[in-house]
Amino acid sequence: MREDYNFVIKITTNCPAHCKCCVNRKKAFENKNENNTVFNISYFEKLCSIINQIGGKYICFSGGEPTMVSNIEAYMKIAHSYGLKTRINTNGWDITAEKLDLWLSLGLEQIVLSVYSLDAENIDNVRGSSVLLERLLKSAKVIKEFKEKRDFIFIVQTVVMKDNYTELPQILEFAINNNANLMWPSYMEDAINLPGVRMEKEDINILKSNIIPKMKDIVNKYIFEEEKKKDIIYNLNEYYKNEFDGYIYHNENYECHWTQRHLTFYPNGTIYPCPAHEYFYSKCERKIDYNSIDVPQVLSILNQDTKDLQQYCKYCPQGIFQDIRIS
Ligand code: SF4
Ligand code: SF4
Repeated sequence: MREDYNFVIKITTNCPAHCKCCVNRKKAFENKNENNTVFNISYFEKLCSIINQIGGKYICFSGGEPTMVSNIEAYMKIAHSYGLKTRINTNGWDITAEKLDLWLSLGLEQIVLSVYSLDAENIDNVRGSSVLLERLLKSAKVIKEFKEKRDFIFIVQTVVMKDNYTELPQILEFAINNNANLMWPSYMEDAINLPGVRMEKEDINILKSNIIPKMKDIVNKYIFEEEKKKDIIYNLNEYYKNEFDGYIYHNENYECHWTQRHLTFYPNGTIYPCPAHEYFYSKCERKIDYNSIDVPQVLSILNQDTKDLQQYCKYCPQGIFQDIRIS
C-alpha cells in the first residue's frame, strides 16, 4: 500500500476537439457507440471507495473533456466524501466562475489546462476545433481571477508536436500572464506511433536554435527571482542536449516512476497501466467489469509484472524533459 498513487479517471470519452496527438486514443475506443462514453456514477463511487481503501489520496478527472459532463459536481461530491483530493484535465471547454467556486469547495486542488495552440488558424489544424480558442481564453480568464483569491495549483500543459512547437514561447507567455504555477511541455515529439505528429530532426534543430532562445527571452522579461530564473533556463538548456536517435529515450531495463503507481480507468472498463498509454497500443492494457471490481483486482492490476511494459518505455520520453516552474 502506498500514498503516492496516481489514478486518472476518464469520466467521459466525449470531446468537442479532435487533437492530432489524440488519434490513437480515439481509435482505441472500441465501444465508442455503445452508450458507455460517460463513467457510470455508481461504478465511479465503487472506484473511489476502493482507491480510498488502498491508500490513494487523490484522483484526476480526465477525458475526453470532463467539463462536458453536466453533473460533474456529483462526481466531485463523491470523491470528496471519500476524502480524495482532485485534479481536472481540461481543454477549457466550460469553466465558469460559479462552477469553479463549487469545484474548489469540493476539494479540487489542481487544474491542468491543455493549450496546444493560441493561434486561431493553427488551433483548427492542431485540435480540429475553431471554437475552442475562444472558450479556452474565457476559461483561462476565470481561472486567473480565482488564482488571485483562492488556493489551488494551475498548470498549463501542452503536447509538443511538429505543428505547434514554434508556438512554445507564446504558450509560455500565456502561462505566466495567467498566473499558472507550472507549464508542462509533455511528450516532446509524441514519437510513439504518431510519425505524422512528431518533430523531425530539422524541427528539433529549429527548436534548439530559435524557439528555446525566444522562451528564454520570455523568462528574462517576466521572471525576476534569480533562483527561479536560473532553474527554468537550466531546464530549457537541457531540452535535446542529448540526441535521441531513432526516438529511443530509455534502455530496456528502464524503471519508470509511474509503474505500479498509476492506472487510467475508462468508462468501458479499459485500464491503462501508465499515462503514456494514451498514445500507443500495448498488451499491458486490461479490461475489467466494474460490476465486480474490488480491492484485490485493482491491486493485482497495479502490481502486474513491469517486464512487458518496459518494451514500450524505450520509445517514451517520460522523465527526460523537465517542467517549467513559474511559481
Ligand atoms: S487531447 Fe484532449 S482535448 Fe484533444 S481530442 Fe483528446 S481528449 Fe479532446
Ligand atoms: S511507457 Fe512511458 S510513462 Fe509508461 S511506464 Fe514506460 S516510460 Fe513510464
